[in-house]
Amino acid sequence: MNETGKPEENIWQELDRRLAKDMTYESGRILGSMCTRPHDIALEVFTHFLEKNLGDPGLFPGTAEIEKEVLKELAELFHCPTADGSLVTGGSEANLIGMRIAKKLKNKVLNPEFIVPASGHASFDKAADLLDIKLVKIPLEEDFSLAPEKVAEQVTPNTIGIVGVAGSTALGLVDPIEELGHIARENNLYFHVDAAFGGFVLPFLSDLGYEIPKWDFEVPEVNSLTADPHKMGMNVIPSGGFLFRDCSLLEELGFNIPYLAGGCFKHLQITGTRPGGVAIAFWALIKSLGREGFRNIVKNAMDLTHYLASEIEIIPRIKLATQPTMNIVGIIPEGDSLSAPDLDARLREKGWALGCFRRENLVRVVLMPHVTQEHIDEFLADLKTCL
Ligand code: PLP
Repeated sequence: MNETGKPEENIWQELDRRLAKDMTYESGRILGSMCTRPHDIALEVFTHFLEKNLGDPGLFPGTAEIEKEVLKELAELFHCPTADGSLVTGGSEANLIGMRIAKKLKNKVLNPEFIVPASGHASFDKAADLLDIKLVKIPLEEDFSLAPEKVAEQVTPNTIGIVGVAGSTALGLVDPIEELGHIARENNLYFHVDAAFGGFVLPFLSDLGYEIPKWDFEVPEVNSLTADPHKMGMNVIPSGGFLFRDCSLLEELGFNIPYLAGGCFKHLQITGTRPGGVAIAFWALIKSLGREGFRNIVKNAMDLTHYLASEIEIIPRIKLATQPTMNIVGIIPEGDSLSAPDLDARLREKGWALGCFRRENLVRVVLMPHVTQEHIDEFLADLKTCL
């Protein structure tokens, strides 16, 4: 640290220069991220309320009330108006909280195991490591689906819970949540659904007439779910959502924080201090867009998804990993001459950031709201050159 400070103007100049190397959503080159430029109203409201701290809700009761209202909206969107929970930093924290609750509820099991589809996000590995839980991963079928009978086969006396994915990271696929629910019920297991990505896509796909099997609290065995506003919810980073059906247990399961200036409150979250501005921004976004606004965002993303998928189908030497369920297109190189990591590297040389799933040998395009038809046409031209 320098002894004396620099003029503000120099600091801005240096930041502009240093950050010029960052990629931008506006360029359309970020094709493999589940985040996007936050919606204007969310950005504006967030910057107004940066100082609000939901880690000490007694100091900011207005902000805490707004967070509760957001959670109520989400609980209704996910078909359980009485569910409660918390906004958190993202899907990783929400998944960790879900697994922690499952472990607490089954504290008599000494060597706990959790069943997770192979498509489960890396955050389950992190959570399992932190909580000392063994993950039992279920391989997917050739078409990337999850066979519920394979899940049932892996249940042992040590199993404490099951994860179902509603919008997988690689392909946006939805596990058979109802069937997994039956397995959870028959074996008295905790059932967590990871809809970090799908949470703000699936409800609107149903509105748009897509046939979406039940995946949320409508399935009676679902105990908790993850849905991230900072993905398709277009909110500012960091915003995840954790919802729990039986909110009577939340009080019991929270951490007691006895010293808070605002009074005694329990934390369900892993973080202490957390940004209240995120909750206020998402509240504003919900009020401003309404269901119709979110539906339009999803419709545009899906129109572009179908366009890209149909183009991929006619390009030689590559194929679709599967027909898209939501706004994610997986591309698999055909034949032995080119692997997915090679294709990813070639596209990266041309300035496209996709991301590669090595186990599935695919690259993936996430059609987030910042991606336009023009970007996709430019991408397709470069993709053909790379092949
Ligand atoms: N769950 C799923 C299905 C995801 O795709 C992701 C991230 O892409 C996460 C959880 C983790 O979310 P975050 O990066 O917000 O912690």
